[in-house]
Amino acid sequence: MKPNRFARWLKVDTKGLYCRPGGFHIDPHGAVRRAVITHGHSDHARPGHEAVLATEETLAIMRARLGEGAPSRPQAVPYGEPLTIGDVTVTLFPAGHVLGSAQVLIEYEGVRAVVSGDYKRSADPTCAPFALVRCDLFITEATFALPVFQHGDARDEVAKLLKSVTQFPERAHVVGAYGLGKTQRVIALLRDAGYERPIYLHGALQACCDLYQSFGVALGTLLPATGTKRDDLKGAIVLAPPSAIADRWSRRLPDPVTAFASGWMRVRARARQQGIELPLVISDHADWRELIDTIAETGAEEVWVTHGREDALLHHIGMTGRRGRALALIGREDEDQ
Ligand SMILES: [Zn+2]
Ligand SMILES: [Zn+2]
Repeated sequence: MKPNRFARWLKVDTKGLYCRPGGFHIDPHGAVRRAVITHGHSDHARPGHEAVLATEETLAIMRARLGEGAPSRPQAVPYGEPLTIGDVTVTLFPAGHVLGSAQVLIEYEGVRAVVSGDYKRSADPTCAPFALVRCDLFITEATFALPVFQHGDARDEVAKLLKSVTQFPERAHVVGAYGLGKTQRVIALLRDAGYERPIYLHGALQACCDLYQSFGVALGTLLPATGTKRDDLKGAIVLAPPSAIADRWSRRLPDPVTAFASGWMRVRARARQQGIELPLVISDHADWRELIDTIAETGAEEVWVTHGREDALLHHIGMTGRRGRALALIGREDEDQ
């Protein structure tokens, strides 16, 4: 095999993926001097970096979540604006994953590499839609990289939730949702479906919702669940972190119907194990079809796969005449699956 023309300048070192001619890491798992960060989830945006290039939204998320650990020298860059760093040009493009999420296009000596971070192709009213970027090397996640994963239309899942609310007006509906991205998407989808009543939040979800609203994402009236009278929560929708659903916290709610918004809810056994009555298949990651379509549409001759479940995808990549490689990155296990 001829020497790999990408591995010469993009490599994995002890801190993660490193661009040598640019002198920066992308989503490193340890603290570094210079990083480009794709989005604010904790497995991508770690504490302790010095110079960080990211979208304004991602930097705001990092400040809110990391406090002291936020980057000491942040630099916001808008989507689509090329920037020269060392010997490379870096441009961010929307990844459609969560607010501010970006794919990183790195151009070096006429070669184009895209580090996509996490992404999805389906509509999301809370963030800019995925932009397809043609490239020679595409680095993709593989969170749901099995043919069994087909996420379907999130609006249908929200319709299920609203139907259940109508059916059980005496019960609260507690929906498990991760704090950054999923929570706001579920709320926005409920609003789009015409649900105008206040939506109640577990305290842990408030800060991210405030942040989305400060960037102009309309979420309607949100009220804290804690402190609200039990009777007022009859027939209400309450969002909570997944860990709180099975916790004592949810026992204060009137006879709650437990729901969980996650791509994993496609796996019925998993929903049952977790005691979820109303699984909602809503994912902020590409499903199998989106992964393989995106890989084809980028035109990439080579594809590197992250996030651990790469076998089926690598097989598919090989079958379609591309070169594939599993990229073993430490600590990629999403908080938002
Ligand atoms: Zn993510
Ligand atoms: Zn991730």
